[in-house]
Amino acid sequence: MKNIVIFGAPGSGKGTQSDLLVAKYGFKHISTGDVLRAEIKNETELGKTAKGFIDNGQLIPDSLMIDILAATYDALGACEGVIFDGFPRTIPQAEALKAMLAERGTAVSTMLELDVPDDMLIERLINRGKTSGRADDNEETIKKRLKVYKDQTAPLAEWYEKEGLRHAIQGFGSLEEINAKLCAVIDAC
Ligand code: AMP
Repeated sequence: MKNIVIFGAPGSGKGTQSDLLVAKYGFKHISTGDVLRAEIKNETELGKTAKGFIDNGQLIPDSLMIDILAATYDALGACEGVIFDGFPRTIPQAEALKAMLAERGTAVSTMLELDVPDDMLIERLINRGKTSGRADDNEETIKKRLKVYKDQTAPLAEWYEKEGLRHAIQGFGSLEEINAKLCAVIDAC
C-alpha cells in the first residue's frame, strides 16, 4: 500500500492533482482542509474551533490536527493507497505522520511537491474564490495563508529531502503534463 504526501502552497493544485490520481490508481484521498470544512458545515465542536483559525488564514494546532488525521486514516479501511493532501503542514505533523504510519507497519512512500510561483498562486486563489464559496479565498486571507505556508510549511521540503522522499515538480503548465510527471514518480516508488 502506498502512502503519498502531496505537498505545495495553497493554490498549487494539490486537490486537482489528487482527484486525477484517485481516478487513475483508485487511491483514497485525505484532504484535511475538506475534513475541517465538513466539520464546520455540520456545526460540530471541532468545526467551531477550526473555523476561527481557517477564516483567519492560520493553522489549526498540531495536537488537534494529528488526532484528526489518525482518526481519518483509521476510518479508511483497506485500499491501494492513500494521498495525504494538506497534511503535514508543520515539522511536528510530519514527525507524527511518520510515527503513526510506523505504528501501523507502513511508511510514507513518496512526497510529491508542486512548485508554483507566488504571483500565479495568488491569481489562482483569487479566481477560485469567485466560485469556491470558501471564506478564506479572499485576497487578504490568501496573503496570510501564503505567509503561514512560507514560515511553517515550506521548511518541510528540506525535512522530506533528508528523508530521501522529496520529488519536486513544476506545478504549472497543462494538468496532463503535471499529472504525467506525478504518475512517473508514483510508478517508480
Ligand atoms: P486547505 O483546504 O488545505 O487549503 O486548508 C484550509 C485551511 O484548513 C488551512 O488554511 C488551515 O487553516 C486548515 N488546515 C488544513 N489542514 C491543516 C493542517 N494539516 N494543519 C493545520 N491546519 C490545517
